[in-house]
Amino acid sequence: MSRPLLGPAEIVVDLAAIRGNARLLRETAGVPLVAVVKADGYGHGAVESARAAKQGGADWIGTATVEEALALRAAGIDGPLLCWIAGPDSDFAAAADAGIDVSAHGLGHLETMAAAFAGRAEPARVQLKLDTGMSRAGSPRAEWPALFGRAAEGERAGLWRITGIWTHPACADDPAHPANDRQEQAFRDALALADEHGLRPELRHFANSATALLRPSARFDAVRCGIALYGLDPAPGEATDVGLVPAMTVHAPLLMVKDLAPGDGVSYGHHWVADHATTVGLVPVGYGDGIPRHASRPGAADSAATVSIDGKRRPIRGSVCMDQFVVDLGGDRPEVGSDVLVLGPSSAGGPTAQDWAEACGTINYEIVTRIGGRMSRTYL
Ligand code: PLP
Repeated sequence: MSRPLLGPAEIVVDLAAIRGNARLLRETAGVPLVAVVKADGYGHGAVESARAAKQGGADWIGTATVEEALALRAAGIDGPLLCWIAGPDSDFAAAADAGIDVSAHGLGHLETMAAAFAGRAEPARVQLKLDTGMSRAGSPRAEWPALFGRAAEGERAGLWRITGIWTHPACADDPAHPANDRQEQAFRDALALADEHGLRPELRHFANSATALLRPSARFDAVRCGIALYGLDPAPGEATDVGLVPAMTVHAPLLMVKDLAPGDGVSYGHHWVADHATTVGLVPVGYGDGIPRHASRPGAADSAATVSIDGKRRPIRGSVCMDQFVVDLGGDRPEVGSDVLVLGPSSAGGPTAQDWAEACGTINYEIVTRIGGRMSRTYL
């Protein structure tokens, strides 16, 4: 894509890619798709991503917090909507009024909801979140009999309808990990126990993106996909290639080109020092915009993250600053104002979110979710 010289740094989100990814995931899984748009749509914009996912065939939208779910409703996102993080002070009544499914992550949490829903004319929609082995939010196994008993009692009393029972995998990106089998079996045990208590929810779900793509037996009644919706690989190195298209591209203008002499140090701490004469360029985005500070790690210059200028990869040198970073131009002098492709699909020749993740010792999720700060978003 050609851009004007010295345009502002911007994030370009390809909504057609999100629509297409939703369609692919829905078709591949063969069960309803919960499109996960928490954390501002993993950095892509929650409302726009939710809209595009629904256009692509997503049946449900998923968020972490109640507040995220309420914000989507306020922005006009209708239809089935599930959230799974709610503190005791969350506005459960507002969520119920807005037809949002809230998740109870334990018996105490369910009692908090019971107090919030008392006296309502219509039963609220509640899903039960179980811990089958990830040891984070979710009702622990020892509690399930009491949880299901209380849930069934509240259902009979018209307090709520238990619309779903669900859990989350810990090792989905490593399909050979024994925890996957253990968690799936624990979930099946839980569903059998719930059935004995008379709980027969419409939606039993387990899978995130990696599980949805790699473990058909764990698709149950729906899959909750986040990272794959945005076209990124949930399990690099595994058989996940179903033709997903990355949705995010980040551009910035080249702000300045200068000469360095041997011995010149770059950026705070001089973690990179030129050992020969070269040219460097200044890119006006930094960790204040979500670019990881350790994109060029001290002592790891060979694995530094790169950007693409005029189709050539240029490594980042020295620590990323709050508002800018420096790239090695190797003696070249691209025009000031040239487009710097900071992140983009490999089809555009850019460093991918996965490239950035590998250079920074993290996962592609963290790279795109952090991107933002002062950069504007443009939607295609
Ligand atoms: N379900 C829950 C409960 C999550 O927390 C997440 C994200 O971490 C997802 C689904 C989506 O996971 P992924 O982005 O790996 O598809």
